[in-house]
Amino acid sequence: MTGSGRFFVGGNWKCNGSTASIKQLVNELNSASIENDVDVVVAPPFLYIGQVIGSLTDRIEVSAQNCWVGKGGAFTGEISADQLVDVGVKWVIQGHSERRHVIGESNATIGKKSAYALSKGLGVIACVGEKLEEREASRTTAVVFEQLQAYADEISDWSKVVIAYEPVWAIGTGKVATPEQAQEVHAAIRSWLSEKISLEVALATRIIYGGSVNRSNCAELAKKEDIDGFLVGGASLKGPEFVSICNAVT
Ligand code: PGA
Repeated sequence: MTGSGRFFVGGNWKCNGSTASIKQLVNELNSASIENDVDVVVAPPFLYIGQVIGSLTDRIEVSAQNCWVGKGGAFTGEISADQLVDVGVKWVIQGHSERRHVIGESNATIGKKSAYALSKGLGVIACVGEKLEEREASRTTAVVFEQLQAYADEISDWSKVVIAYEPVWAIGTGKVATPEQAQEVHAAIRSWLSEKISLEVALATRIIYGGSVNRSNCAELAKKEDIDGFLVGGASLKGPEFVSICNAVT
């Protein structure tokens, strides 16, 4: 990592878990020993956020996996950033590839949602990443830069933004990017920030990697200069393994 900020590890539980399994996972996290210089965040499904906030150690902050584009109202099935803040949520994931490619969210919507969430005081884990066919067509940075631009079109204050580079072909597939592949894109993202936003933002913004991160591959990835943490899916559902990933830089 660059040393520009604290290491950041997010656990994205996606649409997994039950009252009982989440109770167990929270117990495992509460009894774990996590290094001081790492920020740790977990993102339970909406339904279990109250349970997690009520039982999880303050050492770990809670994130949502999504939120509505603006203020609440007549939007059946949606949850607003205002409501997340009200119940004690500190972060929200935006632009995850499953929301982009399964639910069909556009770059523009994701940018707007992120700006609204930031305006309410939430931190935003802003995801970007290319599909396999885009990588094979040498379009990785073009796609990632387009996604970044859509955030930049709406965001003015980057101080509470963490960028998550998650190549779609590596998510949930067991096919992790090599440390070199990840580093190359992370460095490109940092240069883009420097050129399009400011050098200060480029140096201060954490750029984390996601896609099949586990306890065996995290240490090598964490050594790379521009990898400032991880967004972890599958392996975040196993308490001890997630804690090993949180402690990857030690
Ligand atoms: P994975 O998911 O670790 O299961 O590949 C990562 C993510 O989707 O954030």
